[in-house]
Amino acid sequence: MSLLGKTVILSKWLFTQRPTSLAIDITHRCNLKCLHCYFWREEHPGELPDSEMIALMKTFRKRGLRAAILYGGEPTLRPEVCRAAGEIFDACLIFTNGTNGFAEIRGAKWIVSLDGPERVNDEIRGIGVYRRAVLEIRRAKSPPLIHMTISRLNMGCVEDFVGCMAELPIEGIGFSFFTPAVGGADSGYALTLMERDRILTQLLSIRKKFGPIVGITPAMVRQLRSDGAFFSWNRKELCPVSTRVRCFNPAGEAKFCTYGDSADCSRCGCAAVAAYRGALCPIDFRTMLVILALMGMPGRRLITPFLVR
Ligand code: SF4
Ligand code: SF4
Repeated sequence: MSLLGKTVILSKWLFTQRPTSLAIDITHRCNLKCLHCYFWREEHPGELPDSEMIALMKTFRKRGLRAAILYGGEPTLRPEVCRAAGEIFDACLIFTNGTNGFAEIRGAKWIVSLDGPERVNDEIRGIGVYRRAVLEIRRAKSPPLIHMTISRLNMGCVEDFVGCMAELPIEGIGFSFFTPAVGGADSGYALTLMERDRILTQLLSIRKKFGPIVGITPAMVRQLRSDGAFFSWNRKELCPVSTRVRCFNPAGEAKFCTYGDSADCSRCGCAAVAAYRGALCPIDFRTMLVILALMGMPGRRLITPFLVR
């Protein structure tokens, strides 16, 4: 990932309101059917073929977007598109369920979605998924990041999960809270704001125990807490996604948010927004370092002792 590209992204965040990132669901197909996932339950239009998907990415790179986040479905089902994204953008994050391994892709980082220790994860994601993903994590040439979506299904096992992950060759663990659709049948999976506040407090003590592999800072927690800054951004027009990120579905159609057009902003639990606002509103050195680490900042290990508080 080019240092110049990262510097430009940070400068745009600091000094402009211009978009910096492309978030794209590169496929609606997936080899899993997770309990809490909206993607496989919905009807989808067709997918852009590889050549058109890659052309779309190049167009947005020319328009100044230097970072990309690839989602699905399961992005590994489209390896050519993943490879191209790593070449095109200065920073590229690819979310995966981890069951298809982690191909070496220049300039890209893998983020593995797992939702708890083996029993809980597999109740949510399917039997055998945890073992398969852990096997692939152990085999990976570069340590991936882990992402846990905290919901009513797994809220009781966050610390146990971090303990399991801490034994693996990973770069860190991030956390989002399940964000339901407005009036959606999935609302029951979302925590109340009070429950969420409790877990956020717990996450900070987990970070003290396990160190900076736990990718949440006090400034990020503040963005998500109901007695913090949450009500100052949890609307479409105020959320930084509206200014910084261009989101697309697999057909190349624009959508408002990576969670979909019907996402319930009033209950948003997006880690990316918490990290962005945590780093900049006001400026917070530790959260900035979490973001720079996500972008592949060199020498991160030298500074990790300073990341915990
Ligand atoms: S792996 Fe991701 S896209 Fe696939 S079903 Fe699970 S949550 Fe949905
Ligand atoms: S759901 Fe969250 S990330 Fe998406 S637009 Fe709403 S507030 Fe922003």
